[in-house]
Amino acid sequence: MIIGIDLGTTNSAAAYTDDEGRSRLVTMPGGGFSFPSIYAVDDEGRELVGFDARRQWQLNPNNTVYGAKRLIGRQYDADFIEEIARFFTYSLIRSEHDTVEVELAGKRRTLTDISARILGAVHEMAETNLERRIDQAVVTVPAYFDDRQRQSVKDAGAVVGLEVVRVINEPTAAALAYGYGRELSERVVVFDLGGGTFDVSIIEIRDNVFEVVATDGDLFLGGINFDQALLEFIINEFQQEHGVDLSQDGTTIQRLREMSEQVKIDLSSRTEATFSVPFVAFNDAGEPLDVERVITREEFQSLVQDLVDRTIEVCAGVIEDAGLRPEEVDEVLLVGGQSRMPAVADKVSEYFGKAPSKGVHPDEAVALGAAIFASALEAESGGAEQAVTLLDVISLAIGIERADGEMFEIFPKNTPTPNRKDLIFTTSRDHQRELVMKIYQGEDRIAANNQHLGEHNFDGIKPGHAGSVRMQTRFDLSVDGLLTLHARDVDTKKAVRHSLKVPGLDRVASDAPEPDDWAAESGDP
Ligand code: AMP
Repeated sequence: MIIGIDLGTTNSAAAYTDDEGRSRLVTMPGGGFSFPSIYAVDDEGRELVGFDARRQWQLNPNNTVYGAKRLIGRQYDADFIEEIARFFTYSLIRSEHDTVEVELAGKRRTLTDISARILGAVHEMAETNLERRIDQAVVTVPAYFDDRQRQSVKDAGAVVGLEVVRVINEPTAAALAYGYGRELSERVVVFDLGGGTFDVSIIEIRDNVFEVVATDGDLFLGGINFDQALLEFIINEFQQEHGVDLSQDGTTIQRLREMSEQVKIDLSSRTEATFSVPFVAFNDAGEPLDVERVITREEFQSLVQDLVDRTIEVCAGVIEDAGLRPEEVDEVLLVGGQSRMPAVADKVSEYFGKAPSKGVHPDEAVALGAAIFASALEAESGGAEQAVTLLDVISLAIGIERADGEMFEIFPKNTPTPNRKDLIFTTSRDHQRELVMKIYQGEDRIAANNQHLGEHNFDGIKPGHAGSVRMQTRFDLSVDGLLTLHARDVDTKKAVRHSLKVPGLDRVASDAPEPDDWAAESGDP
């Protein structure tokens, strides 16, 4: 059996298809369907995952990792780390490969390992719940995940003995949960505002074909930012009132942060909520001080108005990329916990000119969609006709660094997957034997400002005068959005030896087998 796993920033979930062909969520300890994506190391060096990790979070904030998904497969980039470190109470460090790692109880850990623990725990829950062995899964990732991040999720599965047979995009999974088997012909927008990030995709559904036409998002926009806005407001007000800076103490911050989130969630269903955290500090007379205050929905909305507006700006960008007008969208699906905030739904209704669909559950759709896809894959491998077709796109351009440092785009943003492109490169020096190709993914004009995917070193070029040796390089983009390269000499048709160095992984991929057909296009970056 292949299960579907939604490896979320805040919470994860798993789903499967039952004997009657219905997709169902796996019940987690405590009876709910979600499992906290939290990992910790306690005083005795023991590892804790999920609910156990969350229980001790307040007391052990520096050794508790949440939001690991925002860091997986990422290069250590000072701006990104600075932006994100505001929310994290654990230490982020630069690994020797320039990737992000965390230090917990004095020991370094990779984000792939931490994600593996979470994936492993969810996998175990599914096995216990369904009372059977499961060794394959379809795992969902945000649409904006680049090649390395997708690969890291596959690697995380491998660490815990779970084969990730396909990585699919969260919005596509949500659309599957909404439209599979309903014989629709609709254009939907999936508006996914989760714990840490925001994603919008436009998906055309025709029967069981789900075609993503455009996608975009904001890596720094999610529920965490809404909590932070309230947290900062409370800290500032306390400072003004009592002259005490509460932001200096990790445990206090953690208590205030949890209360911020609670109040925020309460305000989605009520118009007022009490922010109450006792004993946060002492005054000059040595008496304990509390934070105790009623927050109204309006007050909170005014604190986060710019965040809500930002989601609409991103929507407008995607609508424009797709060459559409907002009213040409048939349905808007809201996904992700933060989309439950009434002000978000109101803004979305205003922009698209229609109320969001009631057809999907914001927390459950992604895992259910993954299970639907898993079951379709399983049926196919059993010889059945293809039940579902997913036509996805890459959300960030993939390209190589030119001699002047600029990015030469091989696959622009919104290129459909799978895809292939052939390019011819010529040598620029006499007797050149080697050519290094640095691959990047991102939207910046300067290649080095984008995510570095790897470095291909072609070291088997035959000798010749500058410009006389031509090498044909084939870039293959898989259905999961993963890139592979092959190269051959144009004249001799012989494969050119090359190796791939992936930053942050001690993995050196050797030659992939040569593709059997070559249809050359030209191009000379
Ligand atoms: P997700 O990553 O989809 O699980 O979304 C988690 C985020 O949604 C967290 O930031 C939660 O605080 C937020 N969230 C969950 N429920 C609600 C709610 N009812 N109103 C507002 N935000 C919520």
